[in-house]
Amino acid sequence: MIVDDFRSDTVTRPGSGMRAAMAAAEVGDAVYDDDATTKRLEAMTAERLGKEAGLFFPTGTQANLAALMAHCGRGEEYLVGQMAHTYRLEGGGAAVLGSIQPQPLPNEPDGTIALHAIANAIKPDDFHFAITRLLALENTFNGLVLPDAYLEAATGLARSRGLATHLDGARLMNAAAASNRDAAWIAGQFDTVSLCLSKGLGAPIGSVLVGPREFIEKARRIRKMLGGGMRQTGVIAAAAIYALEHNVTRLGEDHRRAADLAAVLARFPALGAGPSRTNMVFMAPKELDTAAFATFLRGRGIAVGGRYGTLRWVTHLDVDNTSLARVAEACEAYFDKREARV
Ligand SMILES: *Cc1c(COP(=O)(O)O)cnc(C)c1O
Repeated sequence: MIVDDFRSDTVTRPGSGMRAAMAAAEVGDAVYDDDATTKRLEAMTAERLGKEAGLFFPTGTQANLAALMAHCGRGEEYLVGQMAHTYRLEGGGAAVLGSIQPQPLPNEPDGTIALHAIANAIKPDDFHFAITRLLALENTFNGLVLPDAYLEAATGLARSRGLATHLDGARLMNAAAASNRDAAWIAGQFDTVSLCLSKGLGAPIGSVLVGPREFIEKARRIRKMLGGGMRQTGVIAAAAIYALEHNVTRLGEDHRRAADLAAVLARFPALGAGPSRTNMVFMAPKELDTAAFATFLRGRGIAVGGRYGTLRWVTHLDVDNTSLARVAEACEAYFDKREARV
């Protein structure tokens, strides 16, 4: 049984307040634009992020795909980080379902894409090339907050070359909590933004895409085509509203707890744990068998994410200081045992 689940901030379960809000939600048929709670969520998210309109999606993957398809036509191109979610972790949907050519570019260690790489990748107006339409960035990126000046420079460059800009802001609220900027300032650098309610904010399901009204109407048609036109979504939109109202201002707590977790893990140099990045800690140990370590932790009710030699720890609503104490105990036991064996 998993007691302390550090795999992701998606694992949170709705608490009693959120469930009560869901039970009480006014609902209608959202495809007929009749669901008052969903409309309230969409309007509220758009307002918070300084955009004209919003559209509710079942997943962030679908919200991003609809955005890419609304920005780019068949045979057009988007510039994206080689390690970005919309390129690497969404099943190639933009290419497969959108006939959009991805132009992946290297992500620097701080999560940015070098400005010269962006500039050089924008294709000249020449029939040999796909038409470059869009720059897509991600913030936070693997827990890293993209610097304010970089956001301004990268989106400014894109605009000056006639490109649209999209932010995969699955964890935008974490980026805002960790920087001196509010979410609307970050969103304001981009034409369109997707935000996940089901990560650190603790809702069970849902993402909202925000942008200009005309763009959102285009995305609504695409959402239908992708199978995302849902009916009495007020039940889940109510959870998302609850998440926005109650779980944004507390994100700093997750970030502080991730820093505490990094300090715990740093006591065991063999783990090779890095510093925390917003609500995440990564480790890529050189000598340690990460699979064996993860299995040992699982035996003690602790689940950790990551694969292929890297482990990822994520803090969220459902882990607390006692979770950290259990991690410390487990690490001590693991290394004692190994020493005993030598
Ligand atoms: C989680 C995530 C998404 C969307 O994920 P879904 O599981 O489809 O909701 C998109 N981008 C990033 C950066 C994410 O972390």
